Amino acid sequence: MAQAEIGLIGLGTMGSNLALNIAEKGHTIAVFNRTVSRVDEFKANAGALTDRIVPCHSLDELAATIRPPRPTILMVVAGQAVDDQIANLRQVLSPNDIIIDAGNADFNDTRRRFAELAGTGLTFIGMGVSGGEEGARHGPSIMVGGTQESWHRVEDVILAISAKYNGEPCAAWLGPDGAGHFVKTIHNGIEYADMQMIAEVYGLLRDGLGMSAKEIAPVFSKWNDGRLNSYLIEITAKVLEADDPATGNPVVDIILDRAGQKGTGKWSAIEAQKLGVPATAIEAAVAARVISSMKTEREAAQAAYGRTSGNIRIDRDRLFHDLELALFAGKIAAYAQGFAVMDAASKAFDWNVPLPTVSRIWRAGCIIRSQFLGTIADAFSSGSVANLLMAPAFVQMMGEAHPSLRKVVSIAAEAGLPVPALSAALAYFDGYRQGRGTSNLIQAQRDFFGAHGFERIDQPGAHHGPWSYSA
Ligand code: NDP
Repeated sequence: MAQAEIGLIGLGTMGSNLALNIAEKGHTIAVFNRTVSRVDEFKANAGALTDRIVPCHSLDELAATIRPPRPTILMVVAGQAVDDQIANLRQVLSPNDIIIDAGNADFNDTRRRFAELAGTGLTFIGMGVSGGEEGARHGPSIMVGGTQESWHRVEDVILAISAKYNGEPCAAWLGPDGAGHFVKTIHNGIEYADMQMIAEVYGLLRDGLGMSAKEIAPVFSKWNDGRLNSYLIEITAKVLEADDPATGNPVVDIILDRAGQKGTGKWSAIEAQKLGVPATAIEAAVAARVISSMKTEREAAQAAYGRTSGNIRIDRDRLFHDLELALFAGKIAAYAQGFAVMDAASKAFDWNVPLPTVSRIWRAGCIIRSQFLGTIADAFSSGSVANLLMAPAFVQMMGEAHPSLRKVVSIAAEAGLPVPALSAALAYFDGYRQGRGTSNLIQAQRDFFGAHGFERIDQPGAHHGPWSYSA
């Protein structure tokens, strides 16, 4: 008997919390999971919400339980599992039913799935969800891609379960087919850059100034009260304060220096390259995670080359001030890159992604949430800008912050401490604002070895240099 308004498949970390969130907002939800035993376990642990959870032990049962047109959320691992579940759902769903892929899909897969489902009568939505376990349970940021008509069919429940920023829902329809998943991918790319730059500053404080985790924590705590105020800075301070119950040492000191990745950072870098948009701070952050995974090789290289002295001899308070501004400048450059990638994709795929809306729905619920995103929303709302770096408010903020970024990068280079994302951000800024660059020489080299021709500053057309081909 149809009794649920919505269905959800995949009761892992995200799916189970999202299902509870949906139930809490007053909706009866039918749930199914590949490992069927998790279904009854989930209902048994749903506490006061148990009456709004309908456990289903097969997809047939799930389909029979949801009232048509059946909105069904997939919250399973990205990739083949999503294709398999869609194929299975096609056996049990009917025209007009709605499949919502809420995992971290590669937007290319989402576009393919839209094409495959076109003409079946089923509606498909690609939906990016950010906020981790806590966000899924109490309000994530939600980025929706699909037809506008399909959005209107699920809008009420999506807005209800999303995070709220001053009462405004942090969920929106961002454009057709892969737009939602693309924006979620770039959100994660920016998150990689944010986290990496924070880790680089932590490295300068730990290895350059010899500060302990307990000494570094209040530095981040203080920054969280200023222009860097954000969830990631806040949790960094909390992480640095925490002790390992087993040893009593700061927990951060007993964690292996090897960070994993699931793919969204890499996808951001790949798509940026494909679109011809420089996203060097994001790329540097992805590469830094790869280098982090090469622990054995890094140890061998340290033995071969010796350990860098690391020591930074400089007034601490002065350095803290510069580090705060350097992080801010790096953040501006990374966000400028991420938004430029979204803008280019929006144009390439005819999505018309509203960038002010993207920044607004990231102000709460998601991992990169911060007050800074409100400033970005204002910059994009107040007129068309080629790049965030050119918005008047950002010209002023970057003008104030970039000298510190320069100082910090040079101090780090002198000390032999790696700051790849901060360096990339600085190089991007310096390259972007250089009216006459150096690619006149690149043009000449290309013409010399490949007769590619070059443009002149004083005449139109293609020209060749006064050299003869020799290779
Ligand atoms: P979990 O590992 O906690 O859960 C994975 C779920 O996928 C389980 O329900 C699992 O079922 C199901 N599953 C795995 N393989 C298959 C398959 N072949 N067929 C059907 N079901 C399958 O993952 P998360 O909840 O963390 O992640 C789910 C999605 O959400 C992913 O796309 C992830 O990238 C995305 N996401 C995760 C975030 C996070 O912070 N964790 C944040 C934002 C998005 P079973 O119990 O049978 O193994």
